[in-house]
Amino acid sequence: MNSERLLSTLRSVGSFILSRYGLQFRRRDRLEAWQARRLAHFMTRVMPQARRFSPPPGQTLDSLPLMDKATLMGDFAAYNTRDLSLEQVLPLAVQAEQSRDFSPTLGDITVGLSSGTSGAQGVFLVSSVERQRWAGILLARTLPRALLPRLLCPWLAPLRIAFFLRANSRLYTTLASRRIDFAFHDLTLGLAPSFERLNQQDPDVLVAPATVLRGLAQAALAGQLRIRPRHILSVAEVLESADAEAVFAAFGRQPQQIYQASEGFLGYTCEAGTLHLNESHLHIEPQWLDAAQTRFQPIITDFSRRTQMIVRYRLNDILRVAAAPCPCGRAERAIAAVEGRADEILWLPSLDGRQLRALYPDVLRRGLLMLGPALEEYEIRQQGLTWHINLRTREPYSDVCQRLAEALHRLCAEHDLSPPGLSFGHWLAPPPQAKRRRIQMLQQPEGLPCMY
Ligand SMILES: [Zn+2]
Repeated sequence: MNSERLLSTLRSVGSFILSRYGLQFRRRDRLEAWQARRLAHFMTRVMPQARRFSPPPGQTLDSLPLMDKATLMGDFAAYNTRDLSLEQVLPLAVQAEQSRDFSPTLGDITVGLSSGTSGAQGVFLVSSVERQRWAGILLARTLPRALLPRLLCPWLAPLRIAFFLRANSRLYTTLASRRIDFAFHDLTLGLAPSFERLNQQDPDVLVAPATVLRGLAQAALAGQLRIRPRHILSVAEVLESADAEAVFAAFGRQPQQIYQASEGFLGYTCEAGTLHLNESHLHIEPQWLDAAQTRFQPIITDFSRRTQMIVRYRLNDILRVAAAPCPCGRAERAIAAVEGRADEILWLPSLDGRQLRALYPDVLRRGLLMLGPALEEYEIRQQGLTWHINLRTREPYSDVCQRLAEALHRLCAEHDLSPPGLSFGHWLAPPPQAKRRRIQMLQQPEGLPCMY
């Protein structure tokens, strides 16, 4: 093993040990004190290396302006410490996307495109040192104890991981090593071409978006797949209860969630099955959406980064906080659900017609669950005061449309909302690499103020 390779392994192992055994905060004040120390170092030593923060536009974190993907892309070079411009990095990312060869780097920098389905595409930079730390943190936070010996003991077989994503990246192949047999599956090819490789590898750990896990579960139940994964992780999409049930029926394991975006490794499921925010490595401010403080959009500051500056960066996601503390005792904030993206909130007039009120995607999804298996697939797009609903049904189509309309009217009545006009169509399967988006606000009704 040459010295660079040894150093990178040590970095991953170091991050692994620090995250797994060092950063286990049980008290919120200790966690916040750790964050404050890391933030102080980050704001004085790291941030000023990026043009945007030199000199710093504020002294304390909350005096800094908010940013989002549009801000980042609008002044790209100013937000990284290497002064890399979009023109320098974009060709590499686009070429990787087209050739499906994700190995080229720019020096030690990996360039990734975000899989945003709406709005502008994001470009993200990660250095090799950050990649190695990320690999260590990810494994420390997600790997169950029973699989640890496979990672650490040289006389056991390496840990086998199968990973399904829209695009591979050096970020993920960093996980491959002598102790990890890592197989990446490209979703643009569809699922069926993966079956043979999957059966051959027989992975211990299966990582995939929720819809893909469900597809693999169906294939296993149909006898096309013989794998017995011991640990199953859902990434990149909202994990619906029907997905989790299908996975459990096929593999006898509850899927756990990783909340990971191009912007960072944001959360993980603990051994009690609760999703926690990764606050040992990121500072996360809640921007509350409602007066009762049950839902928020996260504003993240990643004080572990050294290349691209993610500082008070507002994500488009809606998180619902857990009603009770998690029995595992971790101080990191517990999340009941990642409900979806901000443009998945649908808006309808209140019964008195004075304002628009939010109908949250998880409320809508749960309202439709009562239709049971009769409703196989659906998508809802709001345009003004009309909902366009495409569906695929197991029972006669017009019966299900009728029941769906009744369920929606009931749901609106429960929430004091005027029901939308409904127009029904047939659901068509999206291409295999597309992200599932069941609910989407295309155009808000005009002329009324929004009340969350
Ligand atoms: Zn927990």
